Amino acid sequence: MTDKAKRFPLQLSSVVDKKPSADRSNRSVATPQTATKNAAWENSRSTPRSGSESGAAPASSPPKKTPAASQQMARPSRTASHVDRSSSMVSEGVRKAMVARVAKQGVCDAKVLAAMETVPRHMFMEPGLSSQAYIDASLPIGHHQTISQPYIVARMIEIMRDNQQGGVLNKVLEIGTGCGYQAAVLSLVAKEVYSIERIKPLHELARNNLRPLRIANVRLHYGDGMLGLPQVAPFDGIILAAAGLEVPQALLDQMTIGGRLVAPVGSRHQVLQLIQRISKFDWTSTTLEDCHFVPLRAGTV
Ligand code: SAH
Repeated sequence: MTDKAKRFPLQLSSVVDKKPSADRSNRSVATPQTATKNAAWENSRSTPRSGSESGAAPASSPPKKTPAASQQMARPSRTASHVDRSSSMVSEGVRKAMVARVAKQGVCDAKVLAAMETVPRHMFMEPGLSSQAYIDASLPIGHHQTISQPYIVARMIEIMRDNQQGGVLNKVLEIGTGCGYQAAVLSLVAKEVYSIERIKPLHELARNNLRPLRIANVRLHYGDGMLGLPQVAPFDGIILAAAGLEVPQALLDQMTIGGRLVAPVGSRHQVLQLIQRISKFDWTSTTLEDCHFVPLRAGTV
């Protein structure tokens, strides 16, 4: 709770289902009011997005060390119409229901559930699919790839957070950015998030999706995630969003001692595997539940 309070200066109740405030004059103050963010997103779909907004996820420069408050997703400056605001209230309601389903399926880490409740998943979908954003399913994002199912996103992060440091994660690496959704969720549970994508148009899609959320602690990289990011390592958490026949050694080598890596492993039959590094030369592996992910592939396209 102390940790949660630090990372979420505003109570969750002020993030979700917030009634539009009577005083909207102070629009430049950054708050995680998703209603306004969502409304700005709805607006941004009908108007070209500005490429000059700060806080986009630039590839390669290290994340700024920011105070907890600035890790919140900032309110975009665009003014929301009343209609947009009420439609975004609907998305908050369905997002809450999605999180309730995820909790019912067994995810109980409050910080993960709060993060899932904060991130507007529909902002990561093509407009044609955004009405399905909150169903518990993986959905296409183009290039034969999918945004992961909400349950598995939450579950993997929960497993990664269940560490000896009471869930504190300094540096986290995600392999397979896709549309950027899981990276956004990770940004609320880790100090620094690095995410690698091997398909250039998806790397760019993720940048565009993350830009309006102005997340300061996510850095996107275009490259082969099987090689990790040796220049940034070690990581105390690594999540693979694509399934290989085994976890690449390079990633094992880039874990801190005490670090946790969560990955789907297998081809047709896949299982979630937790790998913990217990010393310089020793790792333990635990097989968890069945899962289904797109394949992990080498190289870039
Ligand atoms: N994290 C995403 C899921 C994306 S699907 C989400 O939030 O929903 C998995 C992604 O892994 C795909 O975009 C795929 O292109 C990518 N991928 C597969 N192999 C990879 C590799 N070696 N390096 C980086 N990305 C890879």
